[in-house]
Amino acid sequence: MNLKETIKKDKKCVVLTGSGVSAESGIPTFRGEKGLWKEYRPEELATPQAFTRNPPLVWKWYNWRRGIIGKAEPNPAHYVISDMENFFTDFILITQNIDGLHRKAGNKKILELHGNIWENKCFNCEKKFGEIDSLEPQKCECGGYIRPNVVWFGESLDREVLETAFLKSKEAEICFVLGTSGLVQPAASLPYVAKENGAYIIEINLERTPISSIVDEFIPGKAGKVMEGMKKLFV
Ligand code: NAD
Ligand code: ZN
Repeated sequence: MNLKETIKKDKKCVVLTGSGVSAESGIPTFRGEKGLWKEYRPEELATPQAFTRNPPLVWKWYNWRRGIIGKAEPNPAHYVISDMENFFTDFILITQNIDGLHRKAGNKKILELHGNIWENKCFNCEKKFGEIDSLEPQKCECGGYIRPNVVWFGESLDREVLETAFLKSKEAEICFVLGTSGLVQPAASLPYVAKENGAYIIEINLERTPISSIVDEFIPGKAGKVMEGMKKLFV
């Protein structure tokens, strides 16, 4: 089956994205991270243990990431995924990204599995806070430190968001998987759920991943470049 025959407006479409989709916007993926923070692995900073041990260090790292993300603009991959939302009658975007670029590109039907870097919450009482512009971590009135509202390694995902993601993947007829290493659970399971239920899976990545073994089509390359070439399929 070729893509043109497969892609039909009335098919249920799920798109799963990972940090590779934002790489062309200048936001480093975890595995590609270099520079200032190269002596730390993200797995050593994006954890509740790291924050408990050293709140200023983790806050500083997030400030650095917010600095990069704040300057970034969506790339063609984000824009074509936004066209896809308008094209398919039944569409959902499931993202592991916390950068908010999909929203900036116009997507509204989004499940942000790992939260959003611009939001914050109390580490103790979970009270929500908006953007905080401060070099040092602030405290909530309960005395707890305020942290970014993102899901850290070892933490569980929002139950309702996760349930919807699994349900939508189960119903999917077409599933696009872009720029994700397929190593971070439970997101990595979603394409398998879609496949079990008969979805046609298309993966776009620079390199093959554990998910590649079950996909119907693997398209090697940069997400932005590949999606730009597919744009005409979604008008
Ligand atoms: P990952 O860093 O583990 O893997 C990135 C994947 O993208 C790799 O498979 C790589 O080959 C691929 N890739 C890199 N550049 C690409 C490009 N231009 N086009 C297509 N593919 C490309 O990331 P992950 O699987 O998303 O998961 C790791 C965690 O990192 C997630 O929890 C996510 O929340 C977090 N994260 C998010 C951001 C962001 O919001 N932009 C950035 C870094 C990490
Ligand atoms: Zn609190």
